[in-house]
Formats: sequence, structure tokens, C-alpha cells
Amino acid sequence: MAHVISDECIVCGTCLPECPVEAISEGEEKYMIDADLCTDCGACAEVCPVDAIAPEE
Ligand code: SF4
Repeated sequence: MAHVISDECIVCGTCLPECPVEAISEGEEKYMIDADLCTDCGACAEVCPVDAIAPEE
């Protein structure tokens, strides 16, 4: 399991420094989470201003 960033992402960058395992990187149109690195801690989801980050279903 990993958290995923939806198309709601406004590329603000707020989540980037919050990830303790540096799983987040800037993609072309939104930020991306590397599922192999993500530990599902939820730190990024808490700071996202548009609620674009959630656990993968
Ligand atoms: Fe990083 Fe935690 Fe967000 Fe996964 S849930 S991308 S480990 S901050």
C-alpha cells in the first residue's frame, strides 16, 4: 500500500518536505509518490491544502 496524489494536485510543493522517506517528487502536471518508498505514514496528506493525497484504494 502507498498513498497516491490525485489530479486535484495544484503542484504547490507543500507535501514535498514533509515526507520522511523522500518518496515524493515533482512530476509533469502533479507531484508523484514512489509507491516502493512510501510507508503510508500520512504526513503528506495532512498538509495538502486541497486534500489531493489519500491512501491507495
Ligand atoms: Fe511519504 Fe508518508 Fe506521504 Fe508516503 S504517506 S509519501 S511515506 S509522507
